[in-house]
Amino acid sequence: CGIVGIVGRQPVAARLVDALRRLEYRGYDSAGVATIHDGVMERRRAEGKLFNLEKKLDADPLPGTVGIAHTRWATHGVPNETNAHPHFVDGVALVHNGIIENFSELKDELLSEGAVFESQTDTEVVAHLLAKYRRQGLDQRAAMLAMLNRVSGAFALVVLFRDAPGMILAARSGPPLAIGHGSGEMSLGSDAIALSPFTSEITYLVDGDCAILTHDSLEVIDFEGKPVTRRSQISQASA
Ligand code: GLU
Repeated sequence: CGIVGIVGRQPVAARLVDALRRLEYRGYDSAGVATIHDGVMERRRAEGKLFNLEKKLDADPLPGTVGIAHTRWATHGVPNETNAHPHFVDGVALVHNGIIENFSELKDELLSEGAVFESQTDTEVVAHLLAKYRRQGLDQRAAMLAMLNRVSGAFALVVLFRDAPGMILAARSGPPLAIGHGSGEMSLGSDAIALSPFTSEITYLVDGDCAILTHDSLEVIDFEGKPVTRRSQISQASA
């Protein structure tokens, strides 16, 4: 129910959890974080409050200057660690707010092609679709667009690819997503309030936007891949 991500130059795991805390008002039942470091993509997830996730991170820290994190409010699949986001499939890490309405048709198709599902969520089909399009030879951006043309419903989707460690991709169709412009780092979140410790310069995505973030750039395209112009503004949210 809450999403944050950072493409930065400093370790991100603790800052991502702090940013999630600023979204706690949205409600949640579990939480998770994933980062990439030295070609390795890793995650920690926990049922219950952010405190439980922090305990796991304390015991088993997550290095990395690029990461995504999520607080889940379960719609499909019970609240437990296995159903908590980020979902991992073949070098794809994914967090999702909302509901994928056509997940059961997509799941049947993917199962018939041999996909093995770990969770009971609607979300996991999206990670499998992205992995399938990468296996077919599409690059990260093309895989994202191919996926976006298959899913329906309400979603904010945020993706990390293990083989593109300096990049976060995001798409909005319903739930809000705000992009934060920092100095030498870019961030994103369900609400600009989550980003207020990082920056006050915010670009709001609108429905039908797909964003590609690196540590020093933001590119916005539509689900067809055509460039879109979105202007940043100075947010009033206070740190
Ligand atoms: N539908 C997804 C799930 O149940 C995402 C829920 C959310 O927005 O947190 O896992």
